[in-house]
Formats: sequence, structure tokens, C-alpha cells
Amino acid sequence: MKGFLDHLECSACGATYDADQLHTVCSSCGKVLFARYDLARVRDAVRPDDFARRRGSLWRYAEVLPVRDPENVVSLGEGWTPLLEAPRLSRALGCRRVLIKDEGVNPTGSFKARGMTVAVSRAKELGARRLGTPSAGNAACAMSAYAARAGMPAYVFMPEDAPLMNQAECVAYGAHLFLVHGLISDCGRIVRREGSERGWFDVSTLREPYRAEGKKTMGYELAEQLSWRLPDVIIYPTGGGTGIVGMWKAFTEMEAMGWIDSKRPRMISVQATGCAPIVRAFEQGQNQAEPWTGAQTIAGGLRVPSAIGDYLILQAIRDSGGTALTVGDDEIVAAMHELAAREGVFVSPEAGATLAGLRRLLATHQVDPDAEIVLFLTGAGLLNAEMIAVDRPVLDPDDVEGCRRAIDTEEE
Ligand SMILES: *Cc1c(COP(=O)(O)O)cnc(C)c1O
Repeated sequence: MKGFLDHLECSACGATYDADQLHTVCSSCGKVLFARYDLARVRDAVRPDDFARRRGSLWRYAEVLPVRDPENVVSLGEGWTPLLEAPRLSRALGCRRVLIKDEGVNPTGSFKARGMTVAVSRAKELGARRLGTPSAGNAACAMSAYAARAGMPAYVFMPEDAPLMNQAECVAYGAHLFLVHGLISDCGRIVRREGSERGWFDVSTLREPYRAEGKKTMGYELAEQLSWRLPDVIIYPTGGGTGIVGMWKAFTEMEAMGWIDSKRPRMISVQATGCAPIVRAFEQGQNQAEPWTGAQTIAGGLRVPSAIGDYLILQAIRDSGGTALTVGDDEIVAAMHELAAREGVFVSPEAGATLAGLRRLLATHQVDPDAEIVLFLTGAGLLNAEMIAVDRPVLDPDDVEGCRRAIDTEEE
């Protein structure tokens, strides 16, 4: 059952590892491991046109995914999300073409499902028995769902102020949920301290090699949905950075196989004013990011004070001629309203941050309005519905005049 996956390679020191054993980070330097494939063989085995006949799931790209036996795939129908035109939004922004990639339709309501379907499938294939992860909320839901489907116990740790919907969802999936007085980094410390003794395989962001493989499929999909070319600009809400790192890796792989040319989108990273370690490092010209103290933002997925893949995120931004910027929580909420009201897509605050970022970039002439721009709407709004203020009149059906007055006021 030898597939196309060849080995694991450290993205920092180049050390290589057997891909058919469970690994987390590089054991010599502690950095991120990448899955490496025999791309020459993939190129011979499959052509870009072949995908059109396959099912609408990220598993359509099986040749560049790590699971060797299809029997081990734990799937809930993730990926192959719509890439929608956004004509009303484009017009309001004065842009030629803004596209939105709606990741909120994934199982569990966010693109975390992409990473977890691959990580859980591969962990199961390699004999992991129990899974553990720290999470701001969405990763925990996704892991708990896939663990339930795989019949594996899940141990999840999230900050005590994580959205109630996320907490409830994990409990419903039967996960062992713990709330932590602290941030996601504190949750991670507990998982690492307890996990090895208790036999939990740690699927923390970029601390195991396969969540990034799941997220890289966003890059493959984007290329396929645009007939095997890439847009000019990608705006991505960045926390741990798996998506940006994964997509950048996908572009390299696709070019190596001759599926796309060497043109790359400008990768633009948006973070929140209250937690922006990557933006700060980018502005200071650093290759690594200092941990952010006192991280605070309503966008839980962006409340990541330090990312193990910081050097990879910064490299993708710089190599692509991109940039990094912050937006405030008030701009994020305004953007959630705007995306929903103009295009009918109700998104999470992290997703709202991409539009807030685009507005700023246009105002400061850092993005060309003639460019083809893709906003990654990473999560669904339903998980964070409490962020939309609902201050509406309550009607007494028998008070005819009162009803009329209220409706008249609304129509004015
Ligand atoms: C986790 C998360 C992010 C950040 O994703 P990374 O790829 O880890 O940077 C953005 N948006 C949502 C909705 C998330 O759940």
C-alpha cells in the first residue's frame, strides 16, 4: 500500500523522518515538519482535468494527501467549498473583482474541518488511540467531530471564555472538554504536559504534519476553481497560520507538477489590533515573531499570541510580495454586517477581518482595485451570532396602530 507520500522533512533544518510513524515536531530543532510526496509520480498518475470527475470533497486530491488506505479516511464531506463572485461587494469597494471563498459551509462551520479530517484520518492510520488538542474553539469542534466519527476519545482544552456554541458542540460530540483559565497557549502547555503520559496524540496547529496538508487543499481548490491559475491577491485571517502555510506549500507542489505557472498571489495576512504578533514581526523585518502579551480580540481564531510556524508565515508573506496588517474589533463587526447584508454570507469575526483588512488596504493604496482579490471567509457566523446586536421592536398583534407605527418607522 505504498502511496505517493515519501517522507517527512523539517521545514527549518531539513532533517528527514519516516512518514509511516507518528511524529509531531522535528526532534532535532523543534520546528515544523512537512509531508513530502513523490511529485514526479503524482504528475504521471493524475492530470488536472481528471479532478473534474471526482467527488466534491477535498479528498478529490488524494494523490497529494497522506492517507495510504482509503478505508482509513474519516470524512464528513469537507472541502470543495464555493468560490463565489461578490458583485455587490466589489461595486461598494470600487473593485473590479472580489471573490469570496465560503469556508463556513464546512462540517462544524469552519475550515478547521479540512485540517482535522486529514490529521484524524492519518493518526488513525498510524495507530493513534486518543487525540488531544488546545483550541480557541473551532479546532476543538472539528477534532471532536472527526474523533467521534473515528470512534476515538478526544481531549480538548479551550479558554474558559471560548464561545458557548463551541463548548456545547464539543460536549455533544462526547469529547472530554476542559476549560482553561488562560489563553490557547496555556491550553497547549497542558496538552503537552499531560499528553505524552496519557497517550494522547497531540494535533496542535503545525505541531503535527497533517493538518497543514488538509488546509493546503484550499490552494488546490482555488487553482482548480479558477481553471488552474491563481488570483492576484489572497487575504487571509491569520492565527496559527496553517492555512497560509498550507496554501503556499500547495502552490509550490502544483508548480512542480506543471499544473500552474510560477505566478503567485500576494499573500496578505490580517490580524486583530489586540493580538498581532505576525504583523509586528513583519513590520520590524524579523523572521520570527515575539509572543504577544495581553492578547485580546473578539475573533477567537486570531487570538494566538505565538505561532510555531511564524517563520513560515512571514516567509510566505515576503516571498509573495504581500503584506500584513491589523484591524480593530469594531471594524470586524461592521464587516460581518456588510458581508451578510451585501452578499448573503453570514460569517465569523475572523472572516469579517478579511473585508475590514481589504477596506484599509484600498484606502492606503496597498492593493490595486483592478486586481483579482480572494477573501478567505474561514468560518460561519452562526457560531458567533451573539456578536450581532439585535435591538428590535416587539409587536402586540392586537395593537393595530402600534404595529403600523413600528413598521412605518422601519420603512422610512
Ligand atoms: C483557526 C481560525 C483561523 C486562523 O487560522 P490559521 O490557519 O490557524 O491561521 C481563522 N478563522 C477561523 C474561523 C478559525 O477558526
